[in-house]
Amino acid sequence: MSGFGKDGRVTRLFLAVWPPPEIVERLAALPRTEQAGVRWVPPENLHLTLRFLGQADPEDVDASLGHLELPTAEVTLGPAVSRLGRSVVVIPATGLDELAAVVRDATAMIGQPLDPRPFAGHLTLARLKHRAACGVAGAPFRATFPVTSIALVESTQTGRGVEYTTLGRYVVGRVPGTP
Ligand code: ATP
Ligand code: MG
Repeated sequence: MSGFGKDGRVTRLFLAVWPPPEIVERLAALPRTEQAGVRWVPPENLHLTLRFLGQADPEDVDASLGHLELPTAEVTLGPAVSRLGRSVVVIPATGLDELAAVVRDATAMIGQPLDPRPFAGHLTLARLKHRAACGVAGAPFRATFPVTSIALVESTQTGRGVEYTTLGRYVVGRVPGTP
C-alpha cells in the first residue's frame, strides 16, 4: 500500500480491527440511554484498538507493516458488558493477543512510546464522566468473528466529536506479495 498523500504528514493514528457489520448492528442494539455524563461511541466508530500510535506519519507505519505476515485471529467478544477502570464501558475481547504483539513489535519505534501495560483486548461502548451509570453494565453479549484485516486509522477531532478515517488495510494470514 502506498500513497497516503504528502510524505512527512504527521497525524493522530491507531491500528485497529473493525468488527463486521452484523456485529456492529448487534452492538448498536444494546441499550443506549442518553443521560448526563455518558458519551456513547457512535456505531460507525466501534472498533478494537491493537495499538495507539498517537502523532505519527502513516508512511512510517506502512513501511513497518506492509512487508509483514500478520497472524490470523479470531475475536471473541463477551461474555458481558463491563468496565475498564472507572470510566470506560467495554466488552472484553479475547483472541487478539498474538496479533497485537506482532503489531506492537513491528511499530515499536513509531509514534508514542509503547504502553508498558499488557495488552487488554476490548471494544469501548461508552465513556463515563463522574462515575455516571450507563444502564448497560452486566448486559450479556457474546460474539465471535474472524479478523480478515487490520486497519490504520486516522483520528480527527471535529465539532461533532471524533471522526475515524481508515487510511489503509493489512490483510492477515497472507504472505505479502502473494495472491
Ligand atoms: P475521544 O478522545 O474524543 O474520547 P477516542 O478516544 O475514541 O475519542 P482517540 O483518542 O483518537 O479517540 O483514540 C483512538 C483509539 O485509541 C481509542 O480506542 C482510544 O481508546 C485509544 N487510545 C487513545 N489514547 C490512547 C493511549 N494513550 N493508549 C492506548 N490507547 C489509546
Ligand atoms: Mg481518546
